[in-house]
Amino acid sequence: MEFDLSEADLAFRRDKRAWIRANLPADIAERGRRGFHATRSDVEIWTRLLNAQGWAAPAWPAEYGGTAWTPLQRYLFQLELRAAGAPVQDQSAMELVGPVLYTFGSDAQKRAYLPKILNAETFWCQGFSEPNAGSDLASLRTRAVLDGDCYVVTGQKTWTSDAQRADMMFALVRTDPEARPQAGISFLLIDMQAPGVRVRPIYTIDEGRSVNEVFLDDVRVPCKNLVGEANKGWSYAKFLLTNERAMSAETAHTRADLSSLKRFAAEKLADPLFAAKVSRLEIDLMALEYAVLRVISAEAAAQDAVASVLKLRGAELRQRVAELAVEALGAAGLAVNPDPTGHDATDHPAPRPPVPAYAHGWLARAMFRRATTIYGGSNEIQRNIIAKAVLGL
Ligand SMILES: Cc1cc2nc3c(=O)[nH]c(=O)nc-3n(C[C@H](O)[C@H](O)[C@H](O)COP(=O)(O)OP(=O)(O)OC[C@H]3O[C@@H](n4cnc5c(N)ncnc54)[C@H](O)[C@@H]3O)c2cc1C
Repeated sequence: MEFDLSEADLAFRRDKRAWIRANLPADIAERGRRGFHATRSDVEIWTRLLNAQGWAAPAWPAEYGGTAWTPLQRYLFQLELRAAGAPVQDQSAMELVGPVLYTFGSDAQKRAYLPKILNAETFWCQGFSEPNAGSDLASLRTRAVLDGDCYVVTGQKTWTSDAQRADMMFALVRTDPEARPQAGISFLLIDMQAPGVRVRPIYTIDEGRSVNEVFLDDVRVPCKNLVGEANKGWSYAKFLLTNERAMSAETAHTRADLSSLKRFAAEKLADPLFAAKVSRLEIDLMALEYAVLRVISAEAAAQDAVASVLKLRGAELRQRVAELAVEALGAAGLAVNPDPTGHDATDHPAPRPPVPAYAHGWLARAMFRRATTIYGGSNEIQRNIIAKAVLGL
């Protein structure tokens, strides 16, 4: 897409592209292009290279280590990262808990955690959902009871992405069981190595492991790990979830996928029916890219309903591009081919059919992306938010 880029923006883009090409290690780029969940070590190596340039978290305020780039420049950087196959950084840290900490955290928390996030020294996971609290998050039951200078936390989280590699979890816990559901919740930072924390994998249909159950059994969490005020956690969570939805449009990822699809499916594009589907997707993607840019250019936190629109549409496009890729691959698209590096994938005894390198990972991605319309709040929930806020229903 073209945004009538100025000469300065074009130069910015050329400069960042050249730097990424010169510095992204080839083996990491290859794994990234094949679309697997990035390993901790790949994320560490890449984040530290970016951090040495001051580019690890471009959207953060400059005083906490962000860049002074314009929203358009930040988006151009994202496009270049995804096109190059750079590993996705620790999003729970960079995009979710980081902004909560620099907005609501204590000075001690900012000093303790923000530099380690920027340098990928501390990895985070998000402990919000529970077995009976997903869409209805405010019904969560994990309890935190004050005992001296600690909270004692007991309960279970589920679907916790990347808990298997995380050092810390930011969790919503119930600190006042008597208050109405939203009023009795606090936002706690929990050390994943603390006694009483147990992580159990949930293997997903793509044969990968990125989600987990997390059991918390009398885990002692120092009171200094409470973010903001006790029982105000719901408002910090709403701030975080709005950011999460706004980022979930993931248009730079879909753009990179579409470019790759158009490269390997050149022959299939001669089929007018298939070409029409690709064009339809590209038009929808361009429309969403403009919508995302309008939101980020406003430099204001996205409102609930706007973030919901971006999340809803972005999640659908993530699915459509992967499904079109599998369709274009024909029989080769049926091969699952999990990450050959064995990143946390289940041991699968079945022989793998040989397929061209460009076919690797697409079916796994198409299957995993059934989740894009569920995580971060399901698309039905986003439609409810839009119906209420925009249509007044
Ligand atoms: C791959 C993956 C990664 C995830 N990562 C994380 C993570 O890192 N941390 C975390 O805390 N959570 C995570 N989640 C959990 C995710 O946020 C929840 O799955 C999601 O919010 C839905 O909750 P649920 O699974 O309990 O489904 P439910 O809430 O039980 O919903 C079941 C179905 O009912 C529909 N539904 C529910 N309520 C309504 C309603 N009021 N109106 C209309 N339809 C409704 C839903 O849309 C859904 O289709 C992840 C989930 C997945 C699949």
